[in-house]
Amino acid sequence: LGPTVTVGEILVEIMATTVGRGFLSPQPLVGPFPSGAPAIFIDQVARFGGAAGIVAAVGEDDFGVLNVERLRTDGVDVSAIATVPGKPTGSAFVRYRPDGARDFVFNIAHSAAGETRMTDAARALIGRAGHVHVMGSAFAIPGIAAILLEAVATVKARGGSVSFDPNIRKELVQGGEGRRLVDDVLAVTDLLLPSGDELLVAAGAATEAAAVERLLGLGIGEIVLKRGRDGSSHFSRAFGRVDCPAFAVEEIDPTGAGDCFGAVYLTCRRAGLPPARALLYANAAGARTVTKQGPMEGVSSLAELDDFIAAAGRGVP
Ligand code: ATP
Repeated sequence: LGPTVTVGEILVEIMATTVGRGFLSPQPLVGPFPSGAPAIFIDQVARFGGAAGIVAAVGEDDFGVLNVERLRTDGVDVSAIATVPGKPTGSAFVRYRPDGARDFVFNIAHSAAGETRMTDAARALIGRAGHVHVMGSAFAIPGIAAILLEAVATVKARGGSVSFDPNIRKELVQGGEGRRLVDDVLAVTDLLLPSGDELLVAAGAATEAAAVERLLGLGIGEIVLKRGRDGSSHFSRAFGRVDCPAFAVEEIDPTGAGDCFGAVYLTCRRAGLPPARALLYANAAGARTVTKQGPMEGVSSLAELDDFIAAAGRGVP
């Protein structure tokens, strides 16, 4: 029907190389790496062979060029990425704690991403899209929620579909505007891609089973729960529950795993593959991502995933 399109933040990530050390004194850093959950997601769709485009805004600076050139090279339609004079491309400084948790210093809301608008180029891209992917993280950026909701309405009206990764900041959804946005998107979601307790938060339920029942009852076609090292599970009325164990890998950098997982799962399903097969490819994509340093450095092509799955001795169902 048309490309997969998303709307949201593009930024660079700069990482501490010493685990456990904060940013209170100078130290060796590595980066900039192209980043932003929507950018990682859409890059992975394109690298995997899906038609893909993004509505976004970057500054007139090297960080913007770095991102746009990476996306263009990987096959993403970059015609709706605006360049905003006088505002920098966003950035995130990341450091890792010894237990694997991450701390961020963000500069996004006041960056060029905060100037994302429904331009003529954005309207044209959305007008030919067959699918919109909504990222909860993008709700935190001024102006983006309205564009996302308009994109969802346009694509639904022409018979397209919607996926939703509720990577929500909890502060945003506890009541008020954030909760309303989540409910508005859930009401039109075909594929929900939560991880951890996002499933319970999105459903307002106390258990996984209750959350799945409530969300499928809303008319959501399928729910795919990302379980990190424990793999993933699909739930739908059509296929019931389908579980897929993770691949055993050494985790170097977890950033981007969920985005790459979702991109590959969605692209497989849009191509007509059954959930069991889509889960296997998506788990492989998530696992490959965590073995690479840098949020977008672990995106995978179909050939790379086929090799990875074969090397792990896992048959494709
Ligand atoms: P993030 O927010 O870091 O992008 P997420 O919380 O949305 O990620 P995860 O569940 O961490 O999503 O990862 C998505 C998928 O990637 C998992 O379902 C799993 O298949 C794979 N994965 C993630 N971490 C690992 C790991 N350490 N080992 C193997 N596979 C992993």
